[in-house]
Amino acid sequence: MIPWLRLFLFAFVALHVGRADASPTLVPTYVAPAISGNSDDTKLAHFALESWQRASNKSLQFAPSPENLALLRIYWVDAWHPGGFGEMREIVVNGQPGAALYVNVATELLGEEIDAQARADRLYRDTIVYLTCVHELGHGLGLVHTADYLDIMYSFQFGGDIPAYFGRYRRRIQSQAQIARTDAFSAADLLQFQRIIAERKTRPAVGGLRGLRAPASP
Ligand SMILES: [Zn+2]
Repeated sequence: MIPWLRLFLFAFVALHVGRADASPTLVPTYVAPAISGNSDDTKLAHFALESWQRASNKSLQFAPSPENLALLRIYWVDAWHPGGFGEMREIVVNGQPGAALYVNVATELLGEEIDAQARADRLYRDTIVYLTCVHELGHGLGLVHTADYLDIMYSFQFGGDIPAYFGRYRRRIQSQAQIARTDAFSAADLLQFQRIIAERKTRPAVGGLRGLRAPASP
């Protein structure tokens, strides 16, 4: 084969294989600065983003973005908020659906028992903020509530021992750094997420980002 033709074919194949399989969907993402002196909260938000990114098997990549262009936005709340622990609100950014997530960082608003444990144990408090980020990000990515206490998408509206729900994850970590490599998903959460990713892939008009919406939920 003529050398330049071989080179051309190689480049052509490499380009198209790369496009077909490897390139993740970039999701422009904004994390608001922490409030109330909780400077580590932005770190916990990034741990949560990285956790979902791992769960996506490289099909999603959260890319830092200015607030006004971000499809996914994480904000901190320290006043009474209808969402309780957290809330996801749908937003539209340049005609594309996105999600604004509000994460409560004031444990005194979450009941006496949780507040007492959070004040006595910094990692218990970090667990609450981290798991709330993971849960609300789940909504932002299109996951819905479940009634299974084992799931990160479990809705507290189904009742159960809420302080123990956080305690279960808290016992798995011994430092804040460990949160970065301790995913909170159940097998059912991962299955729900993989279904969403698969559905998005089968719809060519989706363009990768339209799936960033979920039914309104607390
Ligand atoms: Zn929820």
